[in-house]
Amino acid sequence: MKFELTILGCGGAIPTLERNPTSQYLNIQDRHFLIDCGEGSQIQLRKFNCKFSKIDHIFISHLHGDHFLGLFGYLSTLSLLGRKSPINIYAPEELMNLINVHNKISGKNYNFNLSFNALNFNKPTKLFEDNILEIFSFPVNHSVPCCGFLFKEKLSQRNIIKTKIKDLGLGIGDIKKLKNRENCIVDGKSIEYKDVTELGNKSRSYAYCADTKYDEKIIPFVKDVDVIYHESTFLEELKNKASKTKHSTAIQAATIALNANAKMLILGHFSARYDNDEKFVKEASSIFKNIVAAHDGFKYQIKN
Ligand SMILES: [Zn+2]
Ligand SMILES: [Zn+2]
Repeated sequence: MKFELTILGCGGAIPTLERNPTSQYLNIQDRHFLIDCGEGSQIQLRKFNCKFSKIDHIFISHLHGDHFLGLFGYLSTLSLLGRKSPINIYAPEELMNLINVHNKISGKNYNFNLSFNALNFNKPTKLFEDNILEIFSFPVNHSVPCCGFLFKEKLSQRNIIKTKIKDLGLGIGDIKKLKNRENCIVDGKSIEYKDVTELGNKSRSYAYCADTKYDEKIIPFVKDVDVIYHESTFLEELKNKASKTKHSTAIQAATIALNANAKMLILGHFSARYDNDEKFVKEASSIFKNIVAAHDGFKYQIKN
C-alpha cells in the first residue's frame, strides 16, 4: 500500500535552475494530494510522473507567492483538459477572492466545481476524513497566517489468526467484527477479538510544517510522526535573519524533529543563496540522525 511523497519543489522564495518553489505531491493508498503549489508545479507533476489529473485535494499553507502562484496555471490546465470532477481546496480564505478576480478578468470559469475550505489559524482542525485516512491543519509561526498539514492513516484492521476460523467456526460477519476490534458470540460462546486476531499494519503519518520560525508549539501537533518535513531556509550563521523573517535554520528544524520524536526529517525550503545542501544536513546532524535534504524529484515511500 503506497504512502509516497514526491518533492516537486524545495526552494524558498525565489526559483533557481536547481530548485522550484515549494510544492509536494502525496499518494496515500491511491488518494492523491497536492501540498502547496509554487509556480511551475504543474510541469514538475508531469516531470516526476505524478498522477496529474487524479489530485482531488489541494492544500495551500499560506499566501506567499512561492507557495501558491502555480495554482492558477494548474487549475486552468485541468479545466482545458476537460476535468469535470470537483477539486477541494484548503487555504487561507483570501485565496478564493484572488481566484474569483482572476476568473472575472480572464472571463473564464472552470469546468469543475471548486469546493473551498478556509483554514483555521488558531487551532488544529480536521480537514478531511475517509475510511483509511485523516488530514489535519495546524497553525505555525510565520510572517503571515500559515498552517502546516498532518496526514495520518487510521488504525488499520487487525488480522484474524487463520487457524481460529475453523477451530471456532467463525462466519464472515464474525470475522469482520473481530477485525474491527469488536467481540462477538458464536454458538453461545463469547469470543474476544484480542484472542483471535493480531495487530494489522502500523498506521503511517507525514507532517508538512510549511514556512515557520522555530516554535515549540508545533511539537504536540506532530508528535511521533513517521516523517516530518521542516523548512530550513538558512544555516546557523543566519540565525538572526531566520528569526527576523520568521523562518528556521537546519539546527532548529532538527530540534523540532528530535522533540517531536519523529523517525525521519526532510529538510527543504532552502534559500537561493545556498547552492549546496550538504551543509544543512551536516549542521542538523549534530542534533538529529535520520535526515535527508530534499531535492526536486525526491521520492520517499513511508513503509508500514
Ligand atoms: Zn516560502
Ligand atoms: Zn512564506
